[in-house]
Amino acid sequence: MGGLIDTHCHVHAANYPLDRSEVLVRARSARVRMICVGTGVEDSRRAVDFAKENEGVYATVGVHPSELAIGELSADSHCSCDGDQILDSTHPVSPTSFVGVKSGQFDSRGVVLRSETEIFDTIASQVKELAKRERVVAIGEIGLDYHYEAPDRARQIELFERQLQVAQDLEMPVVFHVREAFEDFFAVMSGFSKVRRGVVHSFSDGVENLERAVEMGFYVGVNGLATFTKSAEQLEAYARLPLERMLLETDAPYLTPVPFRGKLNEPTYVGFVAEWVAKSRRESRSVIEVATTKNAADLFGI
Ligand SMILES: [Zn+2]
Repeated sequence: MGGLIDTHCHVHAANYPLDRSEVLVRARSARVRMICVGTGVEDSRRAVDFAKENEGVYATVGVHPSELAIGELSADSHCSCDGDQILDSTHPVSPTSFVGVKSGQFDSRGVVLRSETEIFDTIASQVKELAKRERVVAIGEIGLDYHYEAPDRARQIELFERQLQVAQDLEMPVVFHVREAFEDFFAVMSGFSKVRRGVVHSFSDGVENLERAVEMGFYVGVNGLATFTKSAEQLEAYARLPLERMLLETDAPYLTPVPFRGKLNEPTYVGFVAEWVAKSRRESRSVIEVATTKNAADLFGI
């Protein structure tokens, strides 16, 4: 089966702003399959349902570190689907977050939550159950994001570790979100030496961290950021990424690639990322397509 695979999108999300059925039709006619990435328990459930209902769609399940920030970050540091914020942002935050529940409140089943440890226990078991459903190909997106002061780093690490344990128990690959947190990311991963199948999605760092991620055995996700970044360091990292470790993604509706930067993103636009990679490596688009689709198929078993 040829075509491209958008290995990271949020088309299933409640706040996805485009018409999903039209997006699916366009993806199918462009021969683009997609992996819908969960960012919270409810959002992961939606991803699983959406994948089940639609051919060429797969799901991942997990709780993004930003979910911990619900109710803690100021309004302007949240991404929402209105206004310009969405266009270059990478932070889907679902308003129905489970993690936002504070100790002493009730969970969705009416159980009193006494401590954050219990909240994390519940999340881990919910993620584990969802991970066993049909067409779920990975745990994620999970990881660390230190771009803002909150959420607290220790809490992020704990949430991350709890879900890595699920990936380890189920022997599933992982979709990592890592931003400005590579030191702690590598430290945490060295404690999980059995978890070596995964992708560092939306890579936006330099050569050194790229090489460490590749040495650990991970793939690296390239998206629209590559088409418009001005960072020489980041461009150098993309150039050094071995093709056999590259995955393509959109992170739709975020990070729309050139030439549609400024519009809302959708999986079909992964083709522009492929074009950019082909051009920057002086390769044909079909070489990039075959290699990255094989990588995605190998990693996610699809
Ligand atoms: Zn994402």
